[in-house]
Amino acid sequence: MGRACRIFAILCWLAATSAWAAEVQDVRLWRAPDHTRVVFDLSGPAEHKLITLDNPSRIVLDISDVRLKASLSGLKLDDTPIGKIRSGIREGSDLRVVFDMSAGVKPRSFALKANAQAGDRLVLDLYDLTAATVSQPPPVTKKVDAGGRRDLIVAIDAGHGGEDPGALGPNRLREKDVVLAISKELYALFEREPGFKPTLIRGGDYYVSLKGRRDLARQRQADLFVSIHADAFTRPQANGASVYALSTKGATSTAAQYLAQRENAADLIGGVNLSDKDDVLAGVLADLSMTSTLDTSLKMGGSVLGRMDSIARLHKRSVEQAGFAVLKSPDIPSILVETGFISNPAEARRLATRSYQQQMARAIHAGIRDWFSQHPPAGTLLAWQKQQGGQQYTIARGDTLSDIAQRFNVSITDLKSANGMSDTRILVGQTLKIPTS
Ligand SMILES: [Zn+2]
Repeated sequence: MGRACRIFAILCWLAATSAWAAEVQDVRLWRAPDHTRVVFDLSGPAEHKLITLDNPSRIVLDISDVRLKASLSGLKLDDTPIGKIRSGIREGSDLRVVFDMSAGVKPRSFALKANAQAGDRLVLDLYDLTAATVSQPPPVTKKVDAGGRRDLIVAIDAGHGGEDPGALGPNRLREKDVVLAISKELYALFEREPGFKPTLIRGGDYYVSLKGRRDLARQRQADLFVSIHADAFTRPQANGASVYALSTKGATSTAAQYLAQRENAADLIGGVNLSDKDDVLAGVLADLSMTSTLDTSLKMGGSVLGRMDSIARLHKRSVEQAGFAVLKSPDIPSILVETGFISNPAEARRLATRSYQQQMARAIHAGIRDWFSQHPPAGTLLAWQKQQGGQQYTIARGDTLSDIAQRFNVSITDLKSANGMSDTRILVGQTLKIPTS
């Protein structure tokens, strides 16, 4: 190569690399019930500045020394307060992204450092000022009947979501989708059952911080928190379902400890602002109330495990314990259900089917119901039913005896004999005694 060529090559190289410190490789957008999240995937760390402008309302994001390689035009803005997104270059090498807003928001931005699962990211959260523009479950209040008996509130937490896909299985199966489907089935089961009021902690594809999940459960006055997950392991042979509770000391096994570490890393992947960071103090866990809460969690977990035994191979036969951040509510019994290994090809195939998701939801539902019907908190409909000598069910239009038997996990024969029935004919409005299964 001649000297001139060499100089030319160096100039080209300089032009290609030195102008920008990093690149925006992808831009992703998630809509949550109360905010819109825009994530910029960067090839390296970058400084940024957030500016809010009025008339017309705009949010401006200036990112120093980066080049936009991704496209902004494919982002789905339906249901968001963003009208349009534009970009331009500022001061030679800075990127300016302008969000033309159609509704007022409170913006917040923060950078996330690269970690084992994800690269450097810049997160822009736009919090809605007005009522949510997407459908979200109505606020849950403890429903009280004429006799002053209230419903039990079950907080159902589908793990991961949004930017955090959770464990990944064959054929692009993602934990966040599987567990949301199971959670919705579980919600439907509790919704149909008198004495229970379910609430979904995550109702769609967006991320909620681990602390945010606990906060929502407390706000909704949950009597129980159940977090739904699907496991993954480096060995594809690993399989089976398991149930976990919090440990205030060490983990009960290295596998449980490993799992808790992985689940706790969700905030790093899902993207959590400093203000959402977990502030549960070790002292809270030493609290006396925690001891009894934990005792209930362990027993209820055992009850769920017992029901899962009939539909799945159990990975562990007893409830395991580790320091799961999402289970650290001092006053709400909390369990985490690993519904199976998404990394196991056969189990992943099953977990992807609606029928298995329903079976799994039925087992979890039955396990929780078993526990509460034996140990109902005072003042609940279930406590009253227990006093009366068992559960009752009033037949609604469209019910069949086999539906009811399945819902309460009792056999049709037992149901018939408990009610002195000779056939399976039922009448709308008729009240059936549900035998204890
Ligand atoms: Zn998980």
